[in-house]
Formats: sequence, C-alpha cells, structure tokens
Amino acid sequence: MPAYAVIGGQWGDEGKGKVVDYLARNAHVVARYSGGNNAGHTVINDQGEFKLHLVPAGIFWPHTTCVIGNGVVVDPSALMSELAGLRERGVDASRLQVSPRAHVIMPYHVALDQLEEKARGAGAIGTTGRGIGPAYMDKASRLGIRIADLLDGATLPGRLENVLRQKNRLITGGYGGKPFELEEVLATCATWAGQLRPYVKPVDETLATALTDGKSVLLEGAQGTLLDVDHGTYPYVTSSSPTVGGAIIGLGISPKAIAGITGIYKAYTTRVGAGPMPTELTNGIGDLIRQRAWEYGTTTGRARRCGWFDAVAARYSATLNGFTSAILTRLDVLDGIKPLRICTAYELDGKRTASFPDTDELARCTPVYEEHPGWDQSTAGLTRWQDLPKGAQRYVDRLAELIGAPIAVISTGPKREETIELAKVIP
Ligand code: GDP
Repeated sequence: MPAYAVIGGQWGDEGKGKVVDYLARNAHVVARYSGGNNAGHTVINDQGEFKLHLVPAGIFWPHTTCVIGNGVVVDPSALMSELAGLRERGVDASRLQVSPRAHVIMPYHVALDQLEEKARGAGAIGTTGRGIGPAYMDKASRLGIRIADLLDGATLPGRLENVLRQKNRLITGGYGGKPFELEEVLATCATWAGQLRPYVKPVDETLATALTDGKSVLLEGAQGTLLDVDHGTYPYVTSSSPTVGGAIIGLGISPKAIAGITGIYKAYTTRVGAGPMPTELTNGIGDLIRQRAWEYGTTTGRARRCGWFDAVAARYSATLNGFTSAILTRLDVLDGIKPLRICTAYELDGKRTASFPDTDELARCTPVYEEHPGWDQSTAGLTRWQDLPKGAQRYVDRLAELIGAPIAVISTGPKREETIELAKVIP
C-alpha cells in the first residue's frame, strides 16, 4: 500500500513546496491533509515561480491527481483565486479534487480570527488572520459548514441562521465588530457552491482506489511538526495536525497504507510568530541567514526568526512521526558561515537534557552546542553528493545521525533541479 508522507520536521517553512514539486514526478496522487491557506509553499520550476496556499504542489505534473482532503479548511475565495492564477499562467488545475467533508472558512471566521488576535494584545499568538483557527474551532464544536453543506442548498439557510445568531452575538457584543447579514452570507455561499462544484469529488474513494491499484500517493504536509496542535509548542501552534496522524485523519486512509514517512528539515532553524525557540540568533549571523535566505513569510511577509539547527527538536519530531528518511533543504544558505553550530542538548534549570520539553520549560532552555568548521566553497545548485565540500558532507552526516534517519535528498537551491538525490523517497 504505497502512500508516502512528506512532513515538516521543524516549525514550518522547511521548503515543502520545492520538495513536493520535485518528488511528485513519481507520484500518481498528491494529497494535502491539514491546514488551510495559512500555508505558503514556494515552487520554482520550468513553468515559473509559484506561491501555493491550498493547491497541492504536485499540480505542475500533468500525470498527477491533486487532492484537498477533509482535514483541510478551505476558503473558497482563496482557492478560486489560486486556481485562476494558475490557469492564467498555463497550469492546468482541472485534475484537482476537493473533499465534500472539508470545512469551509466562512467570512465570520476571518473576522473573528482578526478580532480575537487583536484582543489578545501582548499575548498574540501570531495567527495569519485568515480564519483558520475559528474554522477548526467550529469543526470541533459542530458548528462548522462543510463543502457538502454549501452544495446542499436545502439545509444551509437553517443551519447558517443558527450559527450567525451565535457569531453575531460574539462579534458585536464581545468585540464591537460589525454583524453579518444572513442573506449576504447565503449569497456568498451560493456563488462558492457554483465555483466549487466541478472540483468536489469523493476523495476518500479516489485515494482508496489509487492505493488498492498500487499507485503512489504522496501525502503533502503543511506547517511543521512543532506547530502541531497536540504535539507542538502549545499554544504557539497551528490549529490542526501537521504530523503523520493528521494525514490519516485528514484524508481518511489507513495507517497500513503508509510505506514511508519523510521529514523535511532546513539545514538551520526558523520560526515565525511567537513562542520559544532555543537556538534563535538575535545577532548578525541571524540577520545574515534571514537576508541571504530571504526568510520572510510566503503568506504574511513577516520576518522569520532564524537560528542554528536544533537537533533536540529535530529528533523529537523524527521520533513522533517515525521518520524513515529525511530531506535537508537550504544547505547552500550556510555556505561560508564558519564555524557552524548544532544544538545537541538543552540546559534546563541547571541540568542537561536531550528531551524536548513542553512549552514553558522550552522557554527556559538554553542550547548546548557542538561546533563544526563549515565550508568555504559554494554548494548552490549542486546535484551530486561527491561535489559537496567535505565540510558540508560531514555536517549533513552529523545531522542524519542526530535526527536518527538517513538523508534521502539534499536541496541546494529553490529550483526543482537544484537537488541531490541520495535515495528514492517514492520508489
Ligand atoms: P514551505 O512552506 O515549507 O514550502 O516553505 P516556503 O516556501 O515558505 O519557504 C521555503 C523557501 O525556501 C522558498 O522561498 C523556497 O523557494 C526556498 N527554498 C527551498 N529549498 C531551497 C534550497 O535548498 N535553497 C534555497 N536557497 N532556497 C530554497
């Protein structure tokens, strides 16, 4: 049963877009399973440079079926403008399938997301303000509107009337915001239903058939393991499950279907928004990495916090997901930075630990580093292991050892072909 998961091993932005576009060459189906249009996947290939938020990064290969699973929350306007953008640039996205069980990000979710984050003041958690959190809240509280509900015009008005009564009470009473009119929201829903209808397919059947027929299915993670709502640095997390468990639930496939689980790691660490990050560099090296790697959010434009590779966090996510291999991206960003450091343990309240603790303790951790000499030569764009400088080879080998999984692919640049393949992620 050949499903292969590709999952962010850090705090997101590991380069999943580039890697999924690269790997999708060998996939029949590429499926997104969690998050919403808070994801920002950058792809640079022979068709140009693209920023994807909802559409799986396999879309550039005409032989792939791309799937948005039930675990994703969908803002139909965002999806439609993404599809229009692809169409305008000659990318055929008609093979996209969207699960009718996926929840819809409604206009009041976006309003509430922004009002709630503003009300948090200094305690803001750094949401992207796109309604993702409130949509998942409604899913859990059974107030959500699913794509199936949008298409079924009969039940929608009654359900929406109930939901709006509650939301408007909160928006006007709690936050002093402007209420939503039922008729207006219904009209928006009708437009969305018409636009979405051609893409809505029984995604679980598509996946089950593909898996039974022995076709390769690539499970495309969004965000990263350390942002998982259960296993990440709560509350500085996303509201879904980017980890491998999220793929099972977010697509409706069996764990037995998964033949490989690959973690994607940057050769250093970044984090966007608030929350502890023990290896953060607030000095010139952090600035150098940020500028050289242009570490600014694809979705929000926010400056990302940059730091040394945190092998304690990396090993935690490898263990949690059961990574069978790892992919290292942005190795080229470290060219000429000497020496390099890797965090191999933390100092917590005077004691050394190699475990990844919960959030408040993590905030008290200071990193214990080992030093590496680095390398002088450029690795940018290299495609063969033997061409990497010895210092880079040793650095990669050490990261594999610390992560606890063999490195299958090394990315040396943002373009599809700027890749060293050491082992097949999808056979
Ligand atoms: P994602 O959300 O995990 O897909 O990551 P983002 O797209 O937000 O950020 C990754 C950024 O790194 C994008 O701008 C990519 O084009 C770029 N990128 C990916 N791999 C490499 C690499 O190996 N080297 C360099 N220099 N840039 C890369």
